[in-house]
Amino acid sequence: MSTAGFNSQNGTGTGQAYANGPSQNPVALQQLPGVSYGMTHQPAYNPMQPKATTSPAPGLYPSGPYQPVPPVNSYQPGPQLSSYPSSPGQPLLSRPLMGGPPPHTPPQSASPSPGPRLPPAQATPPPPAVSTTSYYPSPQQPMAPAWQYNTATPPMGPATSMSTHPRGPVANHMNPAASLAAPPPPSSAAYRSAPTPHSTTQLSGPGIPPTSMHGYTQPGTAPPPMNLMAPQTYQPSRPAYGPPPTGPPPAMKPTPPPTGPPMANATPPPKTDGAVAGNGPEASNSYNHVDNKMAGLTQPGPPGRHLGHYPSLPPGYQNTSASHTTPPMHPAMQAATQPFTQAPQPYQQLPGGPGAAQLSPSLAAMSLQSSTPEALRAVNLLQERNLLPPTPVPAPTPCLPQDLQKINCNPEVFRCTLTSIPQTQSLLNKAKMPLGLLLHPFKDLSQLPVVTSSTIVRCRSCRTYINPFVSFLDQRRWKCNLCYRVNDVPEEFMYNPVSRSYGEPHKRPEVQNATIEFIAPSEYMLRPPQPAVYLFVLDVSHNAVETGYLNVFCQSLLDNINALPGDSRTKIGFITFDSTIHFYNLQEGLSQPQMLIVSDIEDIFLPTPDSLLVNLNECKELVQDLLKSLPNLFQKTMETQSALGSALQAAFKLLSPTGGRMSVFQTQLPNLGVGALQSREDPNQRASAKDIQHLSPATDFYKKLALDCSGQQVAVDLFLLSAQYCDLASLGCISRFSAGSVYYYPSYHHQHNPAQVERFQKDLKRYITRKIGFEAVMRIRCTKGMSIHTFHGNFFVRSTDLLSLPNVNPDAGFAVQMSIEENLDDMQVVSFQAALLYTSSKGERRIRVHTLCLPVVNSLSDIFAGADVQAITGLLACMAVDRSVTASLSDARDAMTNAAIDSLTSYRQSVLTIQQPGLLAPACLRLFPLYILALLKQKAFRTGTSTRLDDRVSAMYQLKYQPLTYSMLMIHPALYRVDDLSDEGALNVNERTIPQPKVLQLSVEKLSREGAFLMDAGIVMYLWIGRNCHPNFLTQVLGVPNYAAVPENLYLLPELDTAESQRTRALIGWLRDQRPFFPSLHIIRDESQLKPHFMQNMIEDRTESALSYYEFLLHLQQQISK
Ligand SMILES: [Zn+2]
Repeated sequence: MSTAGFNSQNGTGTGQAYANGPSQNPVALQQLPGVSYGMTHQPAYNPMQPKATTSPAPGLYPSGPYQPVPPVNSYQPGPQLSSYPSSPGQPLLSRPLMGGPPPHTPPQSASPSPGPRLPPAQATPPPPAVSTTSYYPSPQQPMAPAWQYNTATPPMGPATSMSTHPRGPVANHMNPAASLAAPPPPSSAAYRSAPTPHSTTQLSGPGIPPTSMHGYTQPGTAPPPMNLMAPQTYQPSRPAYGPPPTGPPPAMKPTPPPTGPPMANATPPPKTDGAVAGNGPEASNSYNHVDNKMAGLTQPGPPGRHLGHYPSLPPGYQNTSASHTTPPMHPAMQAATQPFTQAPQPYQQLPGGPGAAQLSPSLAAMSLQSSTPEALRAVNLLQERNLLPPTPVPAPTPCLPQDLQKINCNPEVFRCTLTSIPQTQSLLNKAKMPLGLLLHPFKDLSQLPVVTSSTIVRCRSCRTYINPFVSFLDQRRWKCNLCYRVNDVPEEFMYNPVSRSYGEPHKRPEVQNATIEFIAPSEYMLRPPQPAVYLFVLDVSHNAVETGYLNVFCQSLLDNINALPGDSRTKIGFITFDSTIHFYNLQEGLSQPQMLIVSDIEDIFLPTPDSLLVNLNECKELVQDLLKSLPNLFQKTMETQSALGSALQAAFKLLSPTGGRMSVFQTQLPNLGVGALQSREDPNQRASAKDIQHLSPATDFYKKLALDCSGQQVAVDLFLLSAQYCDLASLGCISRFSAGSVYYYPSYHHQHNPAQVERFQKDLKRYITRKIGFEAVMRIRCTKGMSIHTFHGNFFVRSTDLLSLPNVNPDAGFAVQMSIEENLDDMQVVSFQAALLYTSSKGERRIRVHTLCLPVVNSLSDIFAGADVQAITGLLACMAVDRSVTASLSDARDAMTNAAIDSLTSYRQSVLTIQQPGLLAPACLRLFPLYILALLKQKAFRTGTSTRLDDRVSAMYQLKYQPLTYSMLMIHPALYRVDDLSDEGALNVNERTIPQPKVLQLSVEKLSREGAFLMDAGIVMYLWIGRNCHPNFLTQVLGVPNYAAVPENLYLLPELDTAESQRTRALIGWLRDQRPFFPSLHIIRDESQLKPHFMQNMIEDRTESALSYYEFLLHLQQQISK
């Protein structure tokens, strides 16, 4: 049973959870007592489970690193039921207790195969064998005292702070286009809304304490806002639509529509509660679009094609990408978007492109049996070399009818490890592949339809937003694609703002776009949306001054201060610290900033609370003065101590009343006051082939503070710039649980490491200027029968499916694991919906909704045919990070190897019809063993190669929260030969020619001493120059006469006026432009210190401590044929 089903049974809509305060989900609260975590759902196949473990108890789903699952009974539900035991990454309730006991399925072991599988003894020592059953409880015992997440504290400051918000939420609605990336086309102006009838309702917001149960209107008072699921919705006397359908989703009998457009005085749909009062047809809508995409939609499809019919599933009227004029992009992205621009691969192509009305027949015809699809072609990995495609690997296209696939969610935003969902959990278990979603929900999009409407149409039962995959039973009713509830079409929705006509609910933008953004009406707010608030917390100890980072920071902020997202309410503040905490009074009227030093770090207080966070517009000059003087202020400091913990507490106090973003810059191990840490790294153990210690935090101070921050809508971003060990495993918790980001600049020094300085500069610029969402929550729903149980990324899990994100940034990725709880055998498709509710920097409450639709299949071969090898790898990486921390690194390494063994075994036993010798993989998984080997050699998981602890932990963090596109580069870098770049096949971007060299295998045998090779490893790039590199490249690109003249530590390509130089720089610049962070470039020779880093990425080659690709394949084969 999915959460959707749960909601429908309990009748508590989830609308209240979208309140912008730390209001509680009452459902979650009621779950507290006696819940047994991790036991209520049928276990999914989980390769991360140790083979020897048979108990599925909490360790079955690895809990998030850095916080093992505390025993449930250690939690004491507070009197207000506001303590939260759940925490990110930990096994979540797959179902609540209400609605009857869950069908209990005995836990099963993830794999029948006994014992750990380890590489056979060989001349080359295999990765060390450590018992998979070993479990390392952290000696430091950071493990979860029963902290309480107490949100009883009102998040808003005194009422006076309200008066400082001149722009109420409704005022913002009047110009929704203001914050759009591009001005809307003129036509959209017609859709601009007039002030909605809700104009004044928000005024009641401040009066409602956020903890006062979600802003529900109590019975007997005014009717609740339309979109809230008030309990009274479930009155038994509610007009019956007939029993909620439970049968096969869409009925295939289109109901003839009423003739002619509905008249203004047409009988409105039955009102099921009083909520729609005041929202009659006169309520205007506005529809804004940022580009011409939607304008294209205004031209109807083939004339008359759908006239008069309301198909059971909404048609994809036309290929909305037909008029795409997107600029050329990275092949990976092109590939990823292929489903939108190209016909699916032949085996997926349906004859004749079914019309929507024939959807069911066409779904039925989706058989893959006719011929072996390319994805299932058996590949003998031991024989076929050169499996790596010359261009980046595309995301597979789900096997859906074209009409549906055309409007499906972009895989860059929303992707599933299996693009064909197994009908049952047992089928999934047989396939031995992990089932999960990978999301990049707040990605910068060049095309984003934005809708303003006083009515956001959602399912009455499960609160799903109406989307392209619902079905219209007739003009007045739609059936939810997640819980199958039949809902009314609100009168307002009958009007299509695109065609400006009535009677076309299925042509509304909400039903035509799998990704859409709503400007939320006032019921989505419990208080006025918070202003953009930025607080910078800066290390100014001697060590920090030595690194020289302060200059770069101050200059960057000075340069970009006007680009900081916000409006007239934006606030800013600064705290610096060493052994004491320094505040800066920036109040208007002062002639210069006033520094206030608080030396009592044990009991931190705010000296002048009202003048430390100031309005940026009003106090900009003082802020600029401060930024100009700050670097010099501490130039002579000899203070070496760092009271980071106290500084964070002070910053938390300062931000608590409003919420906001805290940006922390730290350069050393905090060693004074609360949160002080000691070095735990033994440099002699860096190259250990044994298990790695100290991957979990040394103290729970940072996690606790992060949870306090989360409760007050504060996110903490950590910039760690250091030459020494800083215990990122402990410090990182401050960002991890507050939904912040971690930036790590090892060996940062303004003189000795110019490449890092450049990277820091570029990253800062992006950080300061990028889009930001405040006080956000994200909920992921899935079709009834499926459930979500483990989350990966940076957030706090507020309730079973609700992630608390005090800030959301466009560069954050998330992953979730799923299981199948009920047979999906009467379903042809299932859907997943991620809804992100946030406050924009302009103070608008917005909801971004992504919906993904995937087919359900009932054969193993179809499941395999739809496997998405990159998504599987990305999800496994997240799971392995958890496993490394909760169990051990060797456990995680074994589990990853087993994942490859298990899936290929399953393929061989259950899918392959003709047995043949060799190591066989379906074509779609042919890169799986390579990616697994790459993970084993990745900094996060490698053993036997010297790896600093912070580097390792940083890599783990990145694997967990980077969107898949970027984490794949970290896992398997792209290698190109660049000394012979040509314009053949080049892209043309903004009149620049971008060469497109082939992607090469990561093996020394692909290198040539005569050449130059670029390796793109995500956050770093290496340009390796062969000893006999052609002189033309040396002179024309590097500007040096010969190999010996290539300087050590070169990190910039000279800007030479030669074709070769332009091509090389164009390629590197373009690759950098594809990602939101700035990879530094290292130009290396054979003698370079960094050469080992380059060589370590040669994944296919053997190293002293790791198998070659071929050896690894032999090992897999041996295990599979056992
Ligand atoms: Zn529903």
